Amino acid sequence: MEVVDEVRRVRFGPGSLDLLAEEVDRVGDGPVLVVSTPGQRGLAERAADLLPAGRATVLAGAAMHAPPDSVEQGVREVDRVGAGIVVAVGGSSSTALAKAVALQRDTKIVAVPTTYAGSEMTPVWGLTQDGVKRTGRDERVRPVSVVYDPTLTLSLPVRTSVSSGFNAIAHAVEGSYAPDGTRLTDLHAQGGIRALLSALPVVVDDPDDLEARSAALFGAWLCGATLADTRMGLHHALCHRLGGALDLPHAELHAVLIPYVLAYNLQAAPLAAEAVAQTLGGPAESAAEALQAAGWSWGTPRSLTDLGVTAADLDRVGPDVAGGEYVNPRDVTPEDVQRILWAALAGDPAD
Ligand code: NAD
Repeated sequence: MEVVDEVRRVRFGPGSLDLLAEEVDRVGDGPVLVVSTPGQRGLAERAADLLPAGRATVLAGAAMHAPPDSVEQGVREVDRVGAGIVVAVGGSSSTALAKAVALQRDTKIVAVPTTYAGSEMTPVWGLTQDGVKRTGRDERVRPVSVVYDPTLTLSLPVRTSVSSGFNAIAHAVEGSYAPDGTRLTDLHAQGGIRALLSALPVVVDDPDDLEARSAALFGAWLCGATLADTRMGLHHALCHRLGGALDLPHAELHAVLIPYVLAYNLQAAPLAAEAVAQTLGGPAESAAEALQAAGWSWGTPRSLTDLGVTAADLDRVGPDVAGGEYVNPRDVTPEDVQRILWAALAGDPAD
């Protein structure tokens, strides 16, 4: 069934990629740049072929965490072809590149997401330079239209699907205790957690199950909406600093850390804990352990060590790793951060 949300301009449903030309035409005329990561070049070319001949150029140069060379290449290509619209196809690395270009050239973004990371919903940009990831909010980078086609996620490898789903769940967990949360964001957060935790085990058993893929992508939409509407806490601060400093895989890092941060913030996270417990079973007080156990059984990495992080890395990044500005419902000391990170390094139970 096709679902349309005119407020956020979302087209959702199997086969909705066919609506791409319509969505692009709504935004404007003229040349279009289609961006993707190298792995999604085939899909980017398919998207470009849906637009009138000669209108779209493909740049398959997006990379995780929007490094400066890929951003420079994106800006150069937009200038070269004279594009006013960028179609971001693939995971949130593609959207991140489109956003970085929009900051410099005021290009409009149409997003066709194929992971559960959620960047397509948000006005949040991220740029990485010299191992430091900066993020900010700017309405110019919020995609003006999002085309969610679950058939495009069928090829997402199972392990990536699970970790990416946990990345989405992390947005919902932190949104559930955000100081600027509302009843609507609470519903988005709980609905997103439930949808993903119900769908992911089915995806693990049968990655071709389109109904489960649709449910997972719907959950990602809800979690992305939560991320867009609330301020994130300790977990996102840790992921930004560690991911930028150690160049770690985004989804997998989120998947390893979120159970520990949920455990740390559990008293302030009754809505998230309830959604986890209702879906996975067990008491809400054990939601963090249940989340971690489910992730492990479905294929998330078990520890920071699994991501290649060493004790020396943690020492190098230092005890103020959470640094910067973030809002967290519970006070956080450098010692608390160290306890969380050393537990995650070892893959200790999140309790
Ligand atoms: P990604 O876009 O790098 O995708 C991960 C891998 O999966 C890539 O190799 C990609 O080619 C592959 N892939 C994607 N879709 C596929 C599919 N359907 N089938 C097969 N392979 C597929 O990773 P991601 O986790 O989606 O995004 C991570 C980046 O997005 C990070 O830079 C992160 O900071 C950013 N992000 C930003 C926001 C925001 O609001 N600004 C939110 C979430 C993530």
